[in-house]
Amino acid sequence: MPETGKRDLLRRLPAVDAVLRNPASEKAVGRYGRTAFSDAVREALDRLRRETLAGAAPAVDEESVVSAAAALLSNRGLRRVVNATGVILHTNLGRSVLSERAVEAVVGAARGYSNLEYDLGSGARGSRYDHAVPLLRQLAGSEDALVVNNCAGATLLALSAVVSGPEGCGAVPEVIVSRGQLIEIGGGFRIPEVLELSGARLREVGTTNRTRRSDYEAAINENTRAILWVHHSNFEVRGFTESVGVAELSDLGPPVVADVGSGALVAVGNEPRVREAVRAGAALAVFSGDKLLGGPQAGIIVGSSAWISAMRRHPLVRALRADKLCLAALEATLASYQEGAAPGELPTLRMLHAPPEEVRDRAAELAEELKKGWPAARIEVVSSVARSGGGTLPAYEIPSYAVRVEAPDADALAAGLRRSDPPVVGRVSDGGLLLDARTLLPGDEMAVVRAVSEAVRDA
Ligand SMILES: *Cc1c(COP(=O)(O)O)cnc(C)c1O
Repeated sequence: MPETGKRDLLRRLPAVDAVLRNPASEKAVGRYGRTAFSDAVREALDRLRRETLAGAAPAVDEESVVSAAAALLSNRGLRRVVNATGVILHTNLGRSVLSERAVEAVVGAARGYSNLEYDLGSGARGSRYDHAVPLLRQLAGSEDALVVNNCAGATLLALSAVVSGPEGCGAVPEVIVSRGQLIEIGGGFRIPEVLELSGARLREVGTTNRTRRSDYEAAINENTRAILWVHHSNFEVRGFTESVGVAELSDLGPPVVADVGSGALVAVGNEPRVREAVRAGAALAVFSGDKLLGGPQAGIIVGSSAWISAMRRHPLVRALRADKLCLAALEATLASYQEGAAPGELPTLRMLHAPPEEVRDRAAELAEELKKGWPAARIEVVSSVARSGGGTLPAYEIPSYAVRVEAPDADALAAGLRRSDPPVVGRVSDGGLLLDARTLLPGDEMAVVRAVSEAVRDA
């Protein structure tokens, strides 16, 4: 843009007061308060000024500044959103939704003091690492268990502990991994990098598609500290493939650390179950609390008492420790499993297993409600495919139903829904907005109806 154009645009930027006096500001002032909104207007104007100086030609009328300021505020702070994407363990939307029982446990632990590190029997100091352990031992069939902040941390801790194990002096310790399992999970969690961080030398065996037991066997030497087995999680390899299960690895000698990832305690698709890894002889199995387990973010390690004790003493455990709210939620979630009530009580399992007809009925009811408020629009129920998400069950297609809203500009409609309170997140496909009913929670329909009617009115 020529300098004169830039200067002209900068001159046309409205004053903060003028923007606040514009009737378009009313709603945002009502929602966020005058102070927060005027700060946001100032910030939006600053951005527009910078963009203009950089050569862009943004819209600078008062209404556009109001929208820009409201958009800045709408993403501020951690907010509840309605998940209409059909992706159940949506990583960006916080993975698992806690059960009512877990929420109550969190509230209880938050409202008052607790025996987090206090032994009520003896009146002496207790350990936070004791909570949830009896339930985990029972559910995983393991000797002992340890809970830390997340599965990435659990993997790092498990590897660090075995690497610095009893005979861990002198030569560089080695950990054997199949080339088919040197994976990246998401958010940059890469197995080779975690191994390096643990102080181990990575000993790769086999090929991307085929690894045999004999490959592992040939790689074992006096510096071998462990064999790492990793669940692929977010992809599948098909065709000319061969891999070795935990059971076949566990009698080779070195301890097997199994990163099972999703933490299925009951059968879900073909996901490896924690219990199976333990039964197959893994010295340690690590998994997430907020994937298929359906609890809070946590990294859970189950396995032999000797290794778990070594981890409790490891300096890293303090840096990775779970907080009381997490432990409260995890214990309540595990109690649902212990009582056999998990499929009915945990939202993650309910969403995974809801019969398609039930989802279709919910979609139909939602479509009817939307049509009432917006009779001219083309709104219909369509079949869709829901996903487990969160790097679990990559090829698992869950039959589902969505409300499809036809709109001249579906992206703009989707953006409007995200500005609602609570924001509603759907997905755009073939010029329509899809709102999948499988991931809606009870009561979410009202929020969706409100969001759509607001978005249509403001359009
Ligand atoms: C998801 C996953 C992780 C990381 O779990 P977080 O709880 O997100 O830290 C590690 N390993 C595997 C195999 C996974 O699937």
